[in-house]
Amino acid sequence: PIRDTDGVEDHQITVCVRKRPLNKKELARKEVDVITVPSKDRIIVHEPKTKVDLTKYLENQNFRFDYAFDDSCDNEKVYKYSAKPLVQTIFEGGMATCFAYGQTGSGKTHTMGGDFQGKTQDCSTGIYAKTARDVFKLLKSPKYRSLDLVVSASFFEIYSGKVFDLLNGKAKLRVLEDGKQQVQLVGLCERSVDSVEEVLKLIQHGNGVRTSGSTSANAHSSRSHAVFQVILRPRASTRLHGKFSLVDLAGNERGADTSSANRQTRMEGAEINKSLLALKECIRALGRKGAHLPFRASKLTQVLRDSFIGEKSKTCMIAMISPGLMSCEHSLNTLRYADRVK
Ligand code: ADP
Ligand code: MG
Repeated sequence: PIRDTDGVEDHQITVCVRKRPLNKKELARKEVDVITVPSKDRIIVHEPKTKVDLTKYLENQNFRFDYAFDDSCDNEKVYKYSAKPLVQTIFEGGMATCFAYGQTGSGKTHTMGGDFQGKTQDCSTGIYAKTARDVFKLLKSPKYRSLDLVVSASFFEIYSGKVFDLLNGKAKLRVLEDGKQQVQLVGLCERSVDSVEEVLKLIQHGNGVRTSGSTSANAHSSRSHAVFQVILRPRASTRLHGKFSLVDLAGNERGADTSSANRQTRMEGAEINKSLLALKECIRALGRKGAHLPFRASKLTQVLRDSFIGEKSKTCMIAMISPGLMSCEHSLNTLRYADRVK
């Protein structure tokens, strides 16, 4: 890969991992931090030998990715090496996708959406907003100004295999595949936007719609995939020029709910499991010519089909890691999954 002076590399598939800090709760119960990031591309899980004796460790599990971010890195730095290098792709007529993967509570929404908690939501710190910021920047740049493109955005979620429009009161959307295997979300709301401020309002609005009516915002978001898209079209036509899809995935631990006593939970778990497996295969296929693309295996991959084809398409995955010992098993699952993506 080509490396620029800042150490940012040019890949078709980028896989990075982010470790969040121990939170107040974990610190209060004196949780052991079992994750270290010894260099810019390595991460180690110190797996305990037994649940009782925390001082004895099994052989460390060592992983290598394109980038590894420790708990001192902020969203801007994570963005710089993950989604940012892909913004140019959509100006050059390609598709870009960025996935946040990991267990519930590992930092997916913090990374993608910014701060959605509390009364004063601030989504300007998230990758959704940073991507929009740089799309507007490039739109006015000498290199792309003459393309005369316009920007729009859409925001939807996939819950239990169904698609809901977050910019249109959670309207249920039909997925349509035409004879040419083009996949469409019928009636998906696409709002034209002229500034970052307008994008921020849409994100805030959509997130409010996403969590409204849920008994627990976190329980709901842990079982659904949220997809925020920034779309470029020529001013004079409706033709698609390029699209950036930013995906806050369902908690991967939910894929293990398949043995739950509750039928609904079990079905949702099976659907999540299926979609994350299909996603892994679809991303891998992007890097290999002629590889089988099982996009029909889940709603998530079906809806994102055009992101997995074409030589110009680029993808990045940010695998999120909770550092505590109690999350160790899930962290290992996350790292193994991310390791298989490339
Ligand atoms: P997820 O979306 O994966 O379930 P969240 O993004 O909601 O997880 O994160 C869980 C909690 O941890 C939130 O309160 C969030 O603000 C906090 N958090 C996550 N990542 C970080 C980080 N890198 N630095 C500080 N706090 C974080
Ligand atoms: Mg979340």
